[in-house]
Amino acid sequence: MIVAKFGGSSLADAAQFRRVRDIVLADSRRQVVVPSAPGKRFPQDEKVTDLFYQCHKARQKGEPFQPVLEVIRGRYGEIAENLGLALDLDGIFQQIWEQIARGAGPDYCASRGEFVNGQLLAEYLGFSFLDAAQAIVFDDDGKLDEEETNSLLQQELLERVPVVLPGFYGRGPQGQIKVFSRGGSDVTGALAARAVGAEVYENWTDVSGFLMADPRIVQDPQPIRHLTYHEMYALSCAGATVLHEDSVGPVSRAGIATNIRNTNRPDHPGTMITSTAVERENFSIFAGIAGRKGYSLVLLEGEDPQQGAFAQKILRAARAHGMDPQAPAVSGAHISFLVDSGEYEHEEEEFAARAAVLGAVQPPEVHTGFACIVLVGYGVPHNHRTLSRIFQTLQSRNIPVAMIHQGISEISTWVGVGEEYMEEAIRALYLEFSKGK
Ligand code: ASP
Repeated sequence: MIVAKFGGSSLADAAQFRRVRDIVLADSRRQVVVPSAPGKRFPQDEKVTDLFYQCHKARQKGEPFQPVLEVIRGRYGEIAENLGLALDLDGIFQQIWEQIARGAGPDYCASRGEFVNGQLLAEYLGFSFLDAAQAIVFDDDGKLDEEETNSLLQQELLERVPVVLPGFYGRGPQGQIKVFSRGGSDVTGALAARAVGAEVYENWTDVSGFLMADPRIVQDPQPIRHLTYHEMYALSCAGATVLHEDSVGPVSRAGIATNIRNTNRPDHPGTMITSTAVERENFSIFAGIAGRKGYSLVLLEGEDPQQGAFAQKILRAARAHGMDPQAPAVSGAHISFLVDSGEYEHEEEEFAARAAVLGAVQPPEVHTGFACIVLVGYGVPHNHRTLSRIFQTLQSRNIPVAMIHQGISEISTWVGVGEEYMEEAIRALYLEFSKGK
């Protein structure tokens, strides 16, 4: 069985619904379909979820929300009419109107995008419909109850297949609707895939998976055919994201592969993300390169030069202050690390005070304006020349390297350069390491 999740742009209008139906019906293993709410049809368009949030805001301010609700109703109406669907949109929107008028919360409002879209899609596919509020449950602290959800989903989905399960929401302990964070239909799809023991979790979107580099920086980068969940995580740390981060756990722990596919190019194989790299055909040194600006380099020195523990305490303190220190370099009582500049500024004073208590001889020395480039892949430990190739490549273009760091997992190599060099450095490294592919 395959669980197929379709993102908002894949279901933005009737023409996209047609593509989705062709895809679903082309493989009888696609028994569980998880839709998002209709997304943007063109760049200036609004996502239905954003419109629902606007309804809630208007209601809260005591302003009329009916006009926005009419716009939403119009979008579904167009899809239904175009596809000849008979769903009682008037009845459904009357109920939604009543709930919002009574002061329903933002989560209820936002969830209706998927709730309505799921019913339209179910009718169009001839599949049954399972309201996610029946099977996805959150606890008193607002955290997903993963085990309870898993057994409910398993039972309810398998009873109904082929079935449409709307993404993004579930219910809290009092029965109230609760949503995941934005983009959360990915999480619903992953939970469904785990529950039914899917052979693969297909995530259909508007790109053909991951590319080896950002196409805004590198011209026509090669697609990545295969990644491991670890590699994907390392790439996402440097800003290359395609999936919601919470959608990885349920499937990767269950050993289920995620296949990112493009609804508009269904014959493209996309990117296959698996737990291990054993089936990989093409082993280049790096699977991909990503970069992110906005880092600061923080340097600290402890009182006692013999005291290696100082660095560990400082890293722990940074994390306790909500930072995610990257690429730590430790030598005796000296430590440096890179950190998101915004995160650092937010906690600067408190962190400096804590560092003094831990034995820092001076306030932290902070240099802003760095970019982090991460080269991800299993090749590094097997290619001893890799680090020197990175250095040489950048040096030959007069790009100063502020730091270079081999991540503990050995699949990510971090390179720090000034922000002004990031694009050029990525282009150079991409060229250097993709040519041997
Ligand atoms: N519709 C929701 C959003 O716009 C959830 C999703 O699309 O995954 O964030």
